[in-house]
Amino acid sequence: MHEVTIRAGDPLRLGEVIGPERVEDLVEAGLRASELLTGRSVVNVNSTATGGGVAEMLSTMLGYVRGTGVDARWVVIDGSPAFFSLTKRIHNHLYGSPGDGGHLGPGEHDLYRTTLTAEGEALATKTEAGDVVVLHDPQTAGLAEQATRLGCTVVWRCHVGRDSTDVHTERAWAFLRPYLEPFVDHYVFTSATFPPSWVPSDQCSIVWPSIDPLSPKNQPLTDEQVEAILTHVGIVAGRQGDRTFTRTDGTPSRVERYCDVFRTGPPAAVTTPMIAQVSRWDGMKDMAGVMEAFARYVDSGRDAELVLAGPVVSAVADDPEGGAVLHDCWEAWRQLPHAIRRRVQLVCIPMHDVEENAAIVNALQRHASVVTQKSIAEGFGLTVAEAMLKGTPVIGTAVGGIVEQIIDGETGLLIDDPHDLGAFGTAVCRLLDEPQLRKDLGERARRRALDVHMVDTHLMSWLDVVASTLGGRGR
Ligand code: UDP
Repeated sequence: MHEVTIRAGDPLRLGEVIGPERVEDLVEAGLRASELLTGRSVVNVNSTATGGGVAEMLSTMLGYVRGTGVDARWVVIDGSPAFFSLTKRIHNHLYGSPGDGGHLGPGEHDLYRTTLTAEGEALATKTEAGDVVVLHDPQTAGLAEQATRLGCTVVWRCHVGRDSTDVHTERAWAFLRPYLEPFVDHYVFTSATFPPSWVPSDQCSIVWPSIDPLSPKNQPLTDEQVEAILTHVGIVAGRQGDRTFTRTDGTPSRVERYCDVFRTGPPAAVTTPMIAQVSRWDGMKDMAGVMEAFARYVDSGRDAELVLAGPVVSAVADDPEGGAVLHDCWEAWRQLPHAIRRRVQLVCIPMHDVEENAAIVNALQRHASVVTQKSIAEGFGLTVAEAMLKGTPVIGTAVGGIVEQIIDGETGLLIDDPHDLGAFGTAVCRLLDEPQLRKDLGERARRRALDVHMVDTHLMSWLDVVASTLGGRGR
C-alpha cells in the first residue's frame, strides 16, 4: 500500500469557470465538512493511482477538497496479478458479464481475504481511530472489517454496476456481501439502479463523480495547440506548433512523447473529420464494436476517420485484461479491407507522465467531430462528461451512468441497445452529415456539463454523505 501525494487545489480558481457564487458555496461546503469532521481525516483507498475513472476523479477532486481545508488523503493497495485477475472478474460480473469465466468460490475467497488482510495491516499505519475511510470498488471492499476494527467510519463507494440484475451480478454480490454488510456505515453508488436489494436505503447515497475543468485533461486549449499536439504524437498530419499545456501545479509543459499508433499509411489530414473513442482497453467499452459499426456503416464517401485510443496497456496496474482486449482489436483491425483499415487507427497513449497523457486525451476530445462511448455497461463514463465540457457531441449507449449524462437529442445521442451496430452507425453518419446538429448538441452538452458535472456539485453531495454518516447536518 502506498500513499499518493495530493497537492491542494485552490477552489477560488474555479471561479473563472463556474462563477463566484458557486465557488462561495463550495468553500462554505468545505468549512461545513471540516466542522463535521472535527479533525478527522478522510482516507480514500483504491487500487490504482493512474488509469481509469476512479483515479482520474480522485486525482482532481481531492486536491480541491484539501484546498477547502479538509484533510483528504489517498492510498492505493497492492496486489498480485492473481488478485487483480480475481477482482477484474468480480468487476466484470457486476457489469453482467462472466469476464474470464473463472470461479468465485472458496479458493477465491482465500486469495481475496489473504491479500486484503495484509493490506489492512498497512492501512493501520495510514489511519487513526475516528477517520472516515472511503473504500472504492470491489478491489478494496474486503478492507471494511479492518477499517471498522481500527475505529474508523467506513464508506464503500461502488463505481460499477448494472441497471438490472442477472446471474453474474448476483454471484458478484454474493461474493462481496459478507465483506461489506456487517461493517460498512454508508454506501455510495453512481446510479440508483446499481445497489443490490440488501443495501439499506437509509445508508445509501447516489453521487455522480465530477471532472475538473482546469486539469490538463480538460483545460482550454487553442486550435493551434490541439493541432500541434496531435500532429506531434503522430495521430494527424497538421502543422507543428505550440504544444504546451499547464500542469496541475501551474507550470507550463510540452507534450514530448509519441503515441504508439497502429495504422496503415500516413496520418489523415487535420481537416479530416474524426470519430474518436478514448477508453481503457476493456471489453465493456466495446472498442471492437465501434470499429465494426464504422466499417459497416460509415462509407468512404464520408471522408471520416476513426481513432480508438486508450492507455499503454502495461500501465494500468489493476486491469490485467488490457493487453488481450487491445490484441483482439488489433486482430479485428487487420481483418478489415484495406480501404477501411486505412481510415481506422488504434492509438496507445503513453502513461509515463499522466499529465502529458491527459493533455493528449484533451486534444483528441477537442479535435474529434464526434466522441463515442459505446459501452456495453458503464459505471458513469467520465469520458462522456469530458467530451461534453469541450462542446464535442457525444454518441453514447443507454447504459449505467451514460444515461444520467446524455439527454437524448438534446445534449448528445443515446443508442438504446448497446449491441445495435446499425443504430450506432446511423447515429455516427447523422452527426457527420449535420454540422448544425453537432454544434447544437455540443453547445447544450457544454452547458449541462458545467451545470452538473463540476467538482462543486460533487462536493455538495459528499457533504450530505459525511453528514449522514457522522450524524450531522449537511447543506
Ligand atoms: N483516460 C486517460 N487516458 C487514456 C484513456 C483514458 O486518462 O489513455 C481516462 C479518461 O479520460 C477518463 C478515464 O480514463 O477520465 C476513464 O474513466 P471512465 O469513467 O470513462 O471509465 P473507467 O475507466 O473508469 O471504466
